[in-house]
Amino acid sequence: MANTPYPESYYAASANAVAPRPVLQGDVETDVCVIGAGYTGLSSALFLLENGFKVTVLEAAKVGFGASGRNGGQIVNSYSRDIDVIERSVGPKQAQLLGQMAFEGGRIIRERVAKYNIQCDLKDGGVFAAITAKQMGHLESQKRLWERFGHTQLELLDQKRIRDVVACDQYVGGMLDMSGGHIHPLNLALGEAAAVESLGGTIYEQSPAVRIERGANPVVHTPQGKVRAKFIIVAGNAYLGNLVPELAAKSMPCGTQVITTEPLGDALAKSLLPQDYCVEDCNYLLDYYRLTGDKRLVFGGGVVYGARDPANIEAIIRPKMLKAFPQLKDVKIDYAWTGNFLLTLSRLPQVGRLGDNIYYSQGCSGHGVTYTHLAGKVLAEALRGQAERFDAFADLPHYPFPGGQLLRTPFAALGAWYYGLRDKFGY
Ligand SMILES: Cc1cc2nc3c(=O)[nH]c(=O)nc-3n(C[C@H](O)[C@H](O)[C@H](O)COP(=O)(O)OP(=O)(O)OC[C@H]3O[C@@H](n4cnc5c(N)ncnc54)[C@H](O)[C@@H]3O)c2cc1C
Repeated sequence: MANTPYPESYYAASANAVAPRPVLQGDVETDVCVIGAGYTGLSSALFLLENGFKVTVLEAAKVGFGASGRNGGQIVNSYSRDIDVIERSVGPKQAQLLGQMAFEGGRIIRERVAKYNIQCDLKDGGVFAAITAKQMGHLESQKRLWERFGHTQLELLDQKRIRDVVACDQYVGGMLDMSGGHIHPLNLALGEAAAVESLGGTIYEQSPAVRIERGANPVVHTPQGKVRAKFIIVAGNAYLGNLVPELAAKSMPCGTQVITTEPLGDALAKSLLPQDYCVEDCNYLLDYYRLTGDKRLVFGGGVVYGARDPANIEAIIRPKMLKAFPQLKDVKIDYAWTGNFLLTLSRLPQVGRLGDNIYYSQGCSGHGVTYTHLAGKVLAEALRGQAERFDAFADLPHYPFPGGQLLRTPFAALGAWYYGLRDKFGY
């Protein structure tokens, strides 16, 4: 019987203690079977339980094993595509709904943390840092655009002001979002899982869904059991494999890497990020970083299309960290790991139904910490018969990657290389 542990990461090493969860053995009946215990699955489960559904969650490995337990911990609101681009693609009515929801995920996280007393080092404040004047101009126009959708909390930072929040000379300015922030991502997932159980939900670990029997009363099979449900929510994201072949064609798992320094001590940590905000730059292949509760720097960046694990993560990410903070040249890297997110061609989430009773949300293409929390709410609304917001996502058009499953990786890598060059030369 497989027993998949967490990858070796700073988060696994500093996770809050939890008792092991059972493997599904035998048959169970439930209202909703959720496949995957990342944020999408856990957020869905929580909203459904709060609305009186009986919920069973199947997790192939452990709670937060996927991207939700490995990410940069940045609470970045909005989507991986600008709202004006979305508006041009789907029209003003649908864009209005999507625009109104774009900052809701961050609020949901804060409500969850407060309501269920989740210990996950939550801090307020996220900065988008501009490296070029063109990127700064883009932030200015994004701020104006978000204000049109009622989001007025964004603040522009000029070159002097951004230096007050991050000790990096690369930036010409930035934008501060106090509704952004950061968390210990695995502890957020573990706290949400405990909340699911406190409401009577059941989570089985080491229990992969290996087959879905579709029909009026769908059944999800695991190696040692099965779950009969009225509804199924598919929330396996980049780790789902080919369980639902229709979904695999229009998305592609990609790897991204994170390193964590040794503890820096209060003085050095404060000198880098005096307000303890998290930062991401505005490049297409972006760098992102933040401090942990014990004053380490978590630094992420880079994308491996097709989700191959690089041999030496530190060799890839440390130079990026030193470019931002040369003052860390003698600091040791304690942890380095990789994780997979799911990319779609449009970089917008892939959401929908298969038949009447199988629902899915996946593929938010990078910025997923907030979106996945919103997705849980929107999926739960749809199962309760209020699908307007769900349909706003479900109606987003999606296309297969050029080249099909075989050639999509080189094609996407070529696209990223092009955008990487544009970043490098400041276009
Ligand atoms: C290294 C990294 C850094 C990132 N940094 C950020 C960041 O700072 N900010 C941000 O907004 N976003 C970030 N992201 C993206 C974000 O983490 C994800 O979008 C989000 O966590 C996805 O959540 P999810 O629940 O949809 O998927 P996941 O968290 O991947 O969860 C899917 C779960 O489903 C399980 N599963 C899969 N198949 C099955 C099956 N057949 N049966 C049962 N279980 C199954 C998996 O084991 C896994 O636990 C990052 C991603 C990575 C990889």
